[in-house]
Amino acid sequence: MENFIQNWLRQDVLDIDAYYVQLANNFIKLDAMENPYRLPDKLAQQHNQYLKEVSLNRYPDPEANQLKQALKTHMQIADDYDILLGNGSDELIQLLALACSPNEVIMSPNPSFVMYEMIAKFTHLKHITLPLNKQFDLEIDVCLNLIQTHQPKLIFLAYPNNPTANCFNKESIKKIIQSTNALVVLDEAYYAYTNKSFIGELSVFNNLVVMRTISKIGLAGLRLGLLIGTKPTITQLNKLRLPYNINALSQASAYFFLTHFESLLQQTQTIIAQRKQLIQALNTLNTINAYPSETNFILFKAENSRQLFNYLLENNILIKNLCKHPKLADCLRVSIGTESENQLFLQTVSDFYD
Ligand SMILES: *Cc1c(COP(=O)(O)O)cnc(C)c1O
Repeated sequence: MENFIQNWLRQDVLDIDAYYVQLANNFIKLDAMENPYRLPDKLAQQHNQYLKEVSLNRYPDPEANQLKQALKTHMQIADDYDILLGNGSDELIQLLALACSPNEVIMSPNPSFVMYEMIAKFTHLKHITLPLNKQFDLEIDVCLNLIQTHQPKLIFLAYPNNPTANCFNKESIKKIIQSTNALVVLDEAYYAYTNKSFIGELSVFNNLVVMRTISKIGLAGLRLGLLIGTKPTITQLNKLRLPYNINALSQASAYFFLTHFESLLQQTQTIIAQRKQLIQALNTLNTINAYPSETNFILFKAENSRQLFNYLLENNILIKNLCKHPKLADCLRVSIGTESENQLFLQTVSDFYD
């Protein structure tokens, strides 16, 4: 009896380590790139009031048209393009993988967002890594060769990249898009923290789509991601979407915030200002090297990184330990918190080295 699932399930799924999310009940949570701020009280009240009007006895609008229009306005997406919504951009990654045939090749850099590789595995695709150099930029000649050899169907490039916090060279990315028949997905999860984007290139390359999410701007709980592309591309991909994948409360709530955006915008701006201060402060410690960031987190190399990570944990501060990755020896990743969280983090780090 106990072993039913062991016998029943695909071996490659049995072999996977489950995506691990650390419980964070009492921690200062700086591990998941969330916006750390609460809503101003007045806005929270208006929001609650707005949600009271949502009918939960009915299925939601299957096309979420009102929300899509608000997203298009908010992100200044031209009418020439359409958008496809996902229950988080994770769901869109899965949808794109489902559009491929078994054993086709999917490519993404490493280190990068882990879901590209995990979902490739779930969906019987073959994953091949695009190498990064010491500056965490694309090793472009090797990438082009790999693309030539393996003829990928899908390429994911996080722009800026997680966990390295940088944007890859734009010309290299253009070379990749030009060199392939793959659909190239520029994952702009951190669009709010950088002024770089490939939305302007959608009119140039017909094998390009841009993916975004509202998770990193303060709405991670709603689970909403979007894929932006030409109308024919989105129309075809939309066939693979589950009919009511964006629930009524998420549709209404996201619409509300996109049409009352000042507070969230202020918060992202504060985070950007804090990012600069935090990088500077970390780099005054000679045991630490913080990398530049175009995101809401900072990657840094630290002496005795494992011990530092544990010391922070003992002090109720949860960040991300990346030391196991061969390209990220001694590297840790911290999300930008509130001003007081950042102060406490810095103080604890400097106490550790004292
Ligand atoms: C956080 C993150 C995502 C996940 O976004 P969701 O919309 O919350 O699923 C996707 N891509 C990258 C690069 C990320 O860092």
